[in-house]
Amino acid sequence: MDRLTGKTALVTGSSRGIGRATAVRLAREGALVAVHYATNDDAARETVALIEKEGGRAFPVRAELGVPGDVHELFFGLEQGLKERTGDTALDIVVNNAAVTGADGISPEDVTPEQLDRYFAVNARAPYLIIQRALRNMPDGGRVINISSALTRTAVPEQVAYSMTKGAIEQISLHLAKHLAPRGITVNSVAPGITDNGGPVFDIPEAVEQMAQVSAFKRVGDAGDVADVVTFLATDEARWITGSFIDASGGTLLG
Ligand code: NDP
Repeated sequence: MDRLTGKTALVTGSSRGIGRATAVRLAREGALVAVHYATNDDAARETVALIEKEGGRAFPVRAELGVPGDVHELFFGLEQGLKERTGDTALDIVVNNAAVTGADGISPEDVTPEQLDRYFAVNARAPYLIIQRALRNMPDGGRVINISSALTRTAVPEQVAYSMTKGAIEQISLHLAKHLAPRGITVNSVAPGITDNGGPVFDIPEAVEQMAQVSAFKRVGDAGDVADVVTFLATDEARWITGSFIDASGGTLLG
């Protein structure tokens, strides 16, 4: 369990859900992890505490994404945290996980320009600008992992606005994979299906039973199911995979 010893990682939105599980696993492999979040200080501190309890290293970084100055604020805290712990600001791994998810969806007729702007600002614009900024810190051989969604491959009309942004993040992976290959940096998309992120709906057995039916395995995903895939992509073992769409939906797309 030391495939990432000496590496540093940023996981956006790792105060809870898939991001938290990813931060915990990257740290288990030896990475120093920046636990990014927007508002929930306690939840971010809990992720850091979980990591430290296992003997890992992590620190919290707060920055609301999708607002002016977001990437600047993120990298200000990130570089400070890295410098204090490693003496420099090298960043080996970026996981673009934070997103506005809109669990209930919006009827296509009712999507407003403001909602579209918000989805794009957090889910597509911010990840792009985070990668662009991170490239200044990223050594050759770095890793970028963008969290997409199975909704880019299956039609759910009430999720059209959200899914448009996930289509955008997959395009970032495709084009930047080619651009960054000369530096040995890989860029991939990971697409979860319905995954228990600790939200209230996952406490309702009937709802969980219904959601489970969409996966070929007839269960909802655990955050760890997705986090393990992300962690693999971060290791040297995944050096030959770039520009890929990785279906981590438990067979949801098999129909
Ligand atoms: P959660 O809703 O559980 O957590 C979201 C995280 O993102 C939190 O850490 C939250 O911080 C942070 N965040 C949200 N908005 C912002 C913002 N504007 N600025 C900064 N941080 C923000 O997410 P999930 O674990 O459910 O999802 C993780 C990823 O997986 C997302 O990209 C999502 O689209 C994708 N996905 C999830 C699926 C699922 O079923 N769970 C299915 C398919 C894809 P804070 O705690 O401070 O609010």
